[in-house]
Amino acid sequence: MIGIYIHIPFCARKCPYCDFFSVPYQKNTVQAYVNAVIRNLKAYANQISDPVDTIYFGGGTPSLLSAEQIHAMLTTCREYFNLSHPEITLEINPARNQETYLHDLYLAGINRLSIGIQSFSDSQLQLLGRTHTVKENCKIIHAAVNAGFENISCDLILALPEQTEMLLSETLEILIHQPITHVSAYLLQIEEHTPFAENPAILEHLPDDDTVADRYLQTVQKLESAGIYQYEISSFAKPGYESRHNLKYWTCADYLGIGTGAHSCLQNRRFYIANHIDLFCQEAMQKEITISEQACDPSEKIMLALRTVKGIPPEMLSRKAQIKADLLTERQYMRLTAEGNLALTPKGFMISNAIIAMLID
Ligand code: SF4
Repeated sequence: MIGIYIHIPFCARKCPYCDFFSVPYQKNTVQAYVNAVIRNLKAYANQISDPVDTIYFGGGTPSLLSAEQIHAMLTTCREYFNLSHPEITLEINPARNQETYLHDLYLAGINRLSIGIQSFSDSQLQLLGRTHTVKENCKIIHAAVNAGFENISCDLILALPEQTEMLLSETLEILIHQPITHVSAYLLQIEEHTPFAENPAILEHLPDDDTVADRYLQTVQKLESAGIYQYEISSFAKPGYESRHNLKYWTCADYLGIGTGAHSCLQNRRFYIANHIDLFCQEAMQKEITISEQACDPSEKIMLALRTVKGIPPEMLSRKAQIKADLLTERQYMRLTAEGNLALTPKGFMISNAIIAMLID
């Protein structure tokens, strides 16, 4: 089984914390881009015989595209690939809250929405430079349900300036009462050259490490108390609603990325596409830039698997690393799962980079 990722690099405006590559929406460019995606899907179809069980439209803001454009790309997937009960996700901005649009997406075949909610606090949404409100956040979730969607994910941003325990608690309380199946909760990162990185009012009010850890653990506990369980560092789901597409990234499974900046892990090779929209639109086939001639080496497998609550069989670690893991387990940064795997605890996820570096050494 393989997954297809389609990157849509257009945004209505730039959020001040974001350093992802994206360009302003322009009708003609967008249509040329969609045509190029379709061309590439057809070109790769000759190379891929495995069934496709996930398709993911990420961005950028894929919901800037019309339902017809999404439909055209999905029709190509259906005609040229062997689809096997695919999970088909589209990232959507709450500002794009039109019942007819959601309904048309559903009819086009999208069966999972990932909504960029970010917060259920108007002051925090304003601070993030988002153009939607708490009311619009709630409205789009309910409009999605009315349109037929059963599988709905919400994005949250944690560790914001002025995000008190009380403020986050209010956001989580509203969130767990929504008809959703999945949450992706990310810690705010201050990326170089973004407006946030140059804004003293933001920098001076960033939470310290202990507060960040408290907010993260508060989120894990609240979601789990509502039956939305952690299955990866930033990902939580009701049982059976884990993102099949994202799980491919953490298990070194095959996926094909189409579009600027998209990464692929395909037939034992990893590659990505340059962030150059004109080139992508002009070329008959996107130009692959090779990262590695193998899927994942053993260290990468350990690193990726330790992001998930399934963890790794202890024998994947060297004898020396197993002794370190025993110590980390004693200190409750790691745990033994029911299957006998070694996995990080929520406390361990907070310092996952340091732990993984220690175990891979
Ligand atoms: S909408 Fe998403 S991708 Fe676009 S600028 Fe904002 S955070 Fe970045």
